[in-house]
Amino acid sequence: MNNAPDTAGFPITLINPESADRQARVDVIVIGAGVAGLAFALSVPADVRVALLTKGNLGESNTRWAQGGLSAAIGGDDTIELHEQDTIYAGAGLSDPEAVHDLVADGPDAVDWLLSLGTAFDRDEETGELALGREAAHSRRRVLHAGGDATGAEIERALVAAVRSRANVQILECAFAIDLIVRDGACTGALIALRDGETVALTAQAVVLAAGGAGQLWATTSNPPAATADGLAMAIRAGAAVVDLEFCQFHPTVLQLPGGTPFLVSEAVRGEGAYLRDHAGNRFMLNEHELAELAPRDVVARGIQKQMVADGADHVFLDLRHLDGPKMRRRFPTIARELDSRGLDLATDLIPVAPAAHYFMGGVIAEESGVTSLPGLLAVGEAACTGVHGANRLASNSLLEGLVFGRKAAAGLHIAPGGDSAPIETQSPDRELDGHETNLAEIRSSIQQTMSRYVSVVRDQAGLTTAIAELEQLSRQLPAHPGDRDAWITANMVLAAHAIASAALFREESRGAHFRSDFPARDSALDGLHYIYQSDNTTEGEWSLDRLSAVIRVARR
Ligand SMILES: Cc1cc2nc3c(=O)[nH]c(=O)nc-3n(C[C@H](O)[C@H](O)[C@H](O)COP(=O)(O)OP(=O)(O)OC[C@H]3O[C@@H](n4cnc5c(N)ncnc54)[C@H](O)[C@@H]3O)c2cc1C
Repeated sequence: MNNAPDTAGFPITLINPESADRQARVDVIVIGAGVAGLAFALSVPADVRVALLTKGNLGESNTRWAQGGLSAAIGGDDTIELHEQDTIYAGAGLSDPEAVHDLVADGPDAVDWLLSLGTAFDRDEETGELALGREAAHSRRRVLHAGGDATGAEIERALVAAVRSRANVQILECAFAIDLIVRDGACTGALIALRDGETVALTAQAVVLAAGGAGQLWATTSNPPAATADGLAMAIRAGAAVVDLEFCQFHPTVLQLPGGTPFLVSEAVRGEGAYLRDHAGNRFMLNEHELAELAPRDVVARGIQKQMVADGADHVFLDLRHLDGPKMRRRFPTIARELDSRGLDLATDLIPVAPAAHYFMGGVIAEESGVTSLPGLLAVGEAACTGVHGANRLASNSLLEGLVFGRKAAAGLHIAPGGDSAPIETQSPDRELDGHETNLAEIRSSIQQTMSRYVSVVRDQAGLTTAIAELEQLSRQLPAHPGDRDAWITANMVLAAHAIASAALFREESRGAHFRSDFPARDSALDGLHYIYQSDNTTEGEWSLDRLSAVIRVARR
């Protein structure tokens, strides 16, 4: 099976690396400093010179916002096999069993590693044992948490503190990776815009894509502003194979208040017994799944979506009023504080919530060692698709994936140290960037509206076809030569969104997070089959999107 999405008409040309302001060389470039990039950078040998890039300040990442926790089968009643079974069940026939096994088997070791770096996970007050929470679709309590519901912030803190002490890692903050450099069919570096706007063609023996997720492609998301699918877009332009793009997990319970910025209300709240209620006060999830509020995320998100349509409302309610209020405040201090600041008390008020784009299961096809289809390029974390999440990620498995496979990729690295010893300076004066008239904010907002309207919790052929046409139309409004971060990001968003909508149109069944109202059943003939999207990037030098010809092919991993 083969299908070429019509990508003609993308008038975007990114920068030719030859025209960068200057050239530099390191051993390894790591694009992204969330859990995956940090775990990688901390695990390379001390004589390997690493440039670690973050788009914003160090510590700003999706990782930072993770609330619920980190899953690992360390409880007395738990086993690797049970964690494996739960992960594969959630993955809806698309998980790679071997990758899942290796992920969960390494979980306890990853926890020990984090503890050795000083991560302060919550402990049982009486026994002093690590406290374990429960989340949807986990058959056991196995979710480690920190600061109650500030798990990601604590993990990021510990990893950032550790990486700052590594002499071989140069941290480049506000350094934006524009594109991968591809020479003779291999990735040889990355083109980077430094804080001051200067561009550097940075070459390396390996480039690690750890650039995180794609939530900002949708109008409503739990993800912070940096999650604009840059990694996915860079990989597509470089000709790396990407996969499972049709699978974006929508978190069921993101706070929905008029005009308010989205804020995630962790699944762990339902794990502790909170109910979902419709506008008449009924627990509607009882009619949708035997696990009710603790059904897999896609089932809960669709249940809420259906109820919102039935109620003619943009939210349903999360109800904690029957639970021990003070205990819930202690267990979820961040959430309680955020609700307080918006005039809601979790002990006495119903909390309005709705589904929002949360986690991107698709990504750059990568082995557990991070190896991708493009020599020289590794991918780890949310930017990668290692096959562990299948069509639907099990809650709290993504921090685990970043840790386990980030470390594994570093352990498997074979390079001869010898990059430049001089650090990369970022002190040149600010300069004028190419100006343009285009209203990029408007284009980005239109991309998000299109994705939320047609490529959301429920999709169909007519909507997806409309989305693809709208995205192509939007791409034509972009400047022909994007010259600054906003323009590069917008170009990335339109390319990634187009690829995602194309993949969603291609998969004519419903499975995991991908629900097609025109194909509502799962097609068992597609069990284990993935849609692989790859551009035919045979041109060297300056790269133009209107020359992109992409194919989608179906294959087993
Ligand atoms: C609100 C929220 C709650 C969550 N809760 C949980 C949870 O409880 N448990 C769990 O397991 N998972 C949770 N997740 C998911 C999890 O946090 C992420 O999947 C995971 O942290 C991704 O880690 P990462 O290292 O791959 O990417 P990120 O942590 O997103 O880091 C990406 C990095 O890439 C950098 N970057 C991106 N683009 C560029 C570019 N062009 N140039 C340079 N740098 C770039 C960014 O600056 C950042 O440093 C949650 C996510 C959110 C948003």
